[in-house]
Amino acid sequence: MAAILLENALLIALGVILVVLAFYLFRTQTSLGLRSRQNENRRTILDEAKFTCPVHGFQSPESLVRLDDGTVVCSHCFKGVIHGDTNVGQ
Ligand SMILES: [Zn+2]
Repeated sequence: MAAILLENALLIALGVILVVLAFYLFRTQTSLGLRSRQNENRRTILDEAKFTCPVHGFQSPESLVRLDDGTVVCSHCFKGVIHGDTNVGQ
């Protein structure tokens, strides 16, 4: 009984290894994989741009402030607006 369970476990592990290897080869060796990685790079850069203030640079998503109208500004610009400095973040 233990031998059958071990054999099944090894068969499942072999299957997982083959799937991971096929996915790795697809991502690294095919033009479709290259295209997928390029799309992923674009998404990463666009996500970083969403969190980059033109004045203060990249801000962590946790430090951003969502205004009542739904726009998101960095906390430094928000503090500037609260204190009456209208040029901050422009
Ligand atoms: Zn800012």
